[in-house]
Amino acid sequence: MALKITVAGAVGFCAGVQAAVKKARESARKYGRVAMLGDIVHNEKVVSELSQLGVEVVKNLDQIDPSVPVLFRSHGTPANIWTDARQRGLTIIDATCPLVRQIHSEALMLAAEGRQLIIIGDKNHEEVEGIASQVDNPIIVSTPQEAEDLPLLKKVGVVAQSTQMMENVSAIVSVLATKVADLRFINTICRPTRQRQQQIRELALNNDVMLVVGSKNSANTRRLAEIARKLNAETHHIEDAGQVDSTWFKDKTSVGIAAGASTPVEVVEEVVKKITKFA
Ligand code: SF4
Repeated sequence: MALKITVAGAVGFCAGVQAAVKKARESARKYGRVAMLGDIVHNEKVVSELSQLGVEVVKNLDQIDPSVPVLFRSHGTPANIWTDARQRGLTIIDATCPLVRQIHSEALMLAAEGRQLIIIGDKNHEEVEGIASQVDNPIIVSTPQEAEDLPLLKKVGVVAQSTQMMENVSAIVSVLATKVADLRFINTICRPTRQRQQQIRELALNNDVMLVVGSKNSANTRRLAEIARKLNAETHHIEDAGQVDSTWFKDKTSVGIAAGASTPVEVVEEVVKKITKFA
């Protein structure tokens, strides 16, 4: 039986990641060596390609030779690290996505209104740490249960990590609405994420098998896989074509393919090529 393959409309890097990777490549050409504070995107293939160009990943500023510029990642860098890098006189290459920078501004604005900031996001994720560093004493909430556990609050401003799932954010905001007298929520899930979440829902519902391609370290890919799995039990999260298993397609007539915002388009193309053999 023929296997119909449908690829999501939005695959490959989102504009933010694309711009950051381009900046890293250009900087490597310009300076020869560049230190990158953490992975620029959560994708091992991209990081290894950049490392061959001279972009080396470091864990902290102490590991950087002062003559080497430092590149800050697409998902943002905590304010204290910016200050520290400036004090050390390092050349900073800022690859922060403009949409993440926008969340920082919204957080500052909500705090300026006298609101307690609540960030809906993954604790310990660099983007969330970057947002949290903009204001004093922010609260980070990951689940509706954590929102239930909060005390009653008077004046609150809420933003979300750019790659959060809309369902989780809505559920948390609904709980907060019962606890907060004056609540202001700004939906900061970025447009590329919302678009991908919508496309994956349609694909998962309309195909026998669903493949989500991207690094297991990537929060946004993991979340896409989670959405798909809820709608289609035959969902597989794979990192590359090598992980495709032919038995998944036995007696199946259709497969949908989607990818996270940090998955290079070539990786998706290789997956399609491999599956075409079973079609
Ligand atoms: S996922 Fe959204 S916020 Fe993150 S880099 Fe891409 S466009 Fe920017």
